[in-house]
Amino acid sequence: MKPDKATRALRVLHSELDACTACPRMIGPVVHGPPVASPVVLVGQAPGPREGSFGRPFAWTAGRTMFRWFQESLGVDEETFRARVYIAAVARCFPGKASGGGDRRPDADEVERCRTWLEREVAILRPELVLAVGTLAIEQVFATKQKLSDVVGVVRRVPWHGLEVDAIALPHPSGASPWHKVEPGKALLAGALRAVGRHPAMRRALAGS
Ligand code: SF4
Repeated sequence: MKPDKATRALRVLHSELDACTACPRMIGPVVHGPPVASPVVLVGQAPGPREGSFGRPFAWTAGRTMFRWFQESLGVDEETFRARVYIAAVARCFPGKASGGGDRRPDADEVERCRTWLEREVAILRPELVLAVGTLAIEQVFATKQKLSDVVGVVRRVPWHGLEVDAIALPHPSGASPWHKVEPGKALLAGALRAVGRHPAMRRALAGS
């Protein structure tokens, strides 16, 4: 699909997505990024409690960390990244807090319901590269549970919503887990970010072509 046609199709999809109330336990509003016609899709877990008021994904502390990674490794600032890479998620509404205090992980039914939006986005964009951020997104993209140390730092060819795409896993940038701050996570994350920066689809996306 040509970029302007894809952008129009994404706008239509977003207007439907904004009205979605399919999950009774989820807390709105629906959060999504802009309709960026990109060969690269980033998939996060779900918005946190602050993203709804900002109206964009990764708008709070986890986002600050993640965009710092991209700034330091790819030399791209947050606004440019947001304008060049399509940001999706496994679930588009805030799941609420878990009993332990962190954000509740979306359950299987919620993931399944929200998958329909992702499928439609993938059909429009036909991406070449997917960045899976955090264990839930990694599980969905790689279609199996993976230990972070087995999957971060490699590029895998995976079937994804009817396509074959390259997939790169990144740890979740929230402060909830120190995995990416200590070895071997630190070195594996650096390797994964190098792979992101080297990938032809990412180079094209960042060049705006
Ligand atoms: S999580 Fe997804 S499917 Fe569920 S209500 Fe929000 S947008 Fe709809």
